[in-house]
Amino acid sequence: MNSQEIEKMAHKMSWQKFVAMEEKEKIIFLNNLHTGNPFHVLFAQQFNRENLDLLCQIAEIARAINKNKQEGVKFLRKLLSGTHALNFFYQPSSRTFLSFETAQETLGMSIRDIRDPSVSSEAKGETLEDSIRTFSSYVDLIIMRYPEKQAVEKGAWVLNKSDRRIPIINAGSGKDQHPTQALTDIYTLHKSFNGEIDGRTIVMCGDLKRGRTVRSLSYLMKNYHDMKLIFVSPSHLRMKKDIKDFLTSHNITYLEEDNLEEIIPLADAIYMTRIQDEWDEKNDQTKKIPKPVDPKYKFKKEYLELMKKDAVLMHPLPKRDEIDEEVGYFRDKRVVFWRQPRNGVWIRVALIALIFQKQQTILDYTHWPKKWREGG
Ligand code: ASP
Repeated sequence: MNSQEIEKMAHKMSWQKFVAMEEKEKIIFLNNLHTGNPFHVLFAQQFNRENLDLLCQIAEIARAINKNKQEGVKFLRKLLSGTHALNFFYQPSSRTFLSFETAQETLGMSIRDIRDPSVSSEAKGETLEDSIRTFSSYVDLIIMRYPEKQAVEKGAWVLNKSDRRIPIINAGSGKDQHPTQALTDIYTLHKSFNGEIDGRTIVMCGDLKRGRTVRSLSYLMKNYHDMKLIFVSPSHLRMKKDIKDFLTSHNITYLEEDNLEEIIPLADAIYMTRIQDEWDEKNDQTKKIPKPVDPKYKFKKEYLELMKKDAVLMHPLPKRDEIDEEVGYFRDKRVVFWRQPRNGVWIRVALIALIFQKQQTILDYTHWPKKWREGG
């Protein structure tokens, strides 16, 4: 099928048909047909090694450009000046929201947001499809976090049918995926290991069943060679079968273990997550006060001694007691979870730049300050 045929098909496709397709079949309706890079960003399977490496490269260069507070900051701000972004968040978020805002501002976009469902026309009975279609009249990019996973898919589907097909990015909807957090994590691994992610062992610990970040990160593993994943979780919060089947089908080794302490010396990265109890049954009154984490699944400060000297300790945040509080105050360069939010801004800058096809302009930046050009 050529690009015009795909566009035509997307234009005609019913929601029932779209939603019933497997994720890998949806990709051609989400990615840019000419570049093959993601346009709507719904899930991690849309990314390949080439665009992941490219995103890390754009993030690194944009970050360096931004250090030049005169020319560099101005240059980045010009890239998307005159365009508008809508941050449409109907589920709690502070860091992802701020991260996107900062990235948009860095690229010179003007920003609007909707965070309170009671002020939207959905409260007047408007469908989500109509709301998104209306919003697309005002802006050039929609970032969306919504309680149901399918809401963002519906957004992409309705925008594909519209004559104003603007991109939409999933900012972590439902418990399924959080693709831009997974990009943040890849960029953190890339920086921590000097670009050499292949062959690493990654331990994921905590609520692997409902943690969308670990799910998305597991999907991205297909793009790297010889990766090994070790899942450590209470038995009722194990990684779900869909992810395990995916890993098996891509020949990615995974193990399920129960003892975090024993596994630590093997890990290149330890990715801790909190118990996602906001998804517990609504009538479960105990969820208001988080229960202390089972000590078996807690990263204790003594575990730093067990870590390899170049391993990293990650967390998508917010964290609770699954990592000893003191660990966050140690100036141990292996503790990288405070660096992840900053990396998240730059990888989102890179992603938005890629969607708007500004990557080459960033890579070709030539206004480095004289002293940098001279190696100073
Ligand atoms: N911030 C991440 C998310 O939105 C992790 C978490 O909430 O535990 O999924």
